[in-house]
Amino acid sequence: MSKDKKMPSIFTMAKNFAKDLSTYIKEGAPNVSNKIYMERLEACNKCPNLNKKHMRCTLCGCLIEHKAKWKTTTCPDKPSRWAPVYKDLKTPKSERSRRAKQANKILKDAANKGVWDPQNPETVNPLLKKMGYKSEVKFSDCDDCGEKGNKKEKDKGKDKV
Ligand code: SF4
Repeated sequence: MSKDKKMPSIFTMAKNFAKDLSTYIKEGAPNVSNKIYMERLEACNKCPNLNKKHMRCTLCGCLIEHKAKWKTTTCPDKPSRWAPVYKDLKTPKSERSRRAKQANKILKDAANKGVWDPQNPETVNPLLKKMGYKSEVKFSDCDDCGEKGNKKEKDKGKDKV
C-alpha cells in the first residue's frame, strides 16, 4: 500500500533536503548511534508514509537512509514516530553561525557550478570533506531494507565528527 504513496514535488524534496543538510552542517555533521539508527529505520519501515520503492518519506521526500542517520533530523509526522535527539545538541550560537555561513557559501558555489545535486545526496561528500567533516553520505546497496548499507555502517563503527 505504501508503495503507491505520492511523493512531494522535486522542488519540495530538494528544498527539504537542503534545509536538513544545512542544519546537519551547522551542528557539525553529527550522526545518531547505530542503535538509534536501526530503531528509526524500523519505525520508517512500518510507517504508512514510507514509499518503499524509493525508500523515501512521502511527507518530506527525504531518503530515509540519510534522514534516519543524521542526529539533527526529525520525523515530520504528527506525532513524530521517532524520539527526537536534536534538542540534546549544544553547539554555541557563534559556531553555528560560522558554520552556516561557510556551508551556505560552499553549497551555493557548488550548486552554481553544478557540483552539488540536491537530488543525489552522495554529491555532498566532497563538500563535507572540504569543510573538514569526516561524516559521509552513502547510498545503501539494498533498496528494500538498507540491510547491506547498515551492516557497512556497523562495521565502520562511529563516524561522528
Ligand atoms: S520519517 Fe517519519 S513519517 Fe517519514 S517514513 Fe519515517 S517514520 Fe514515516
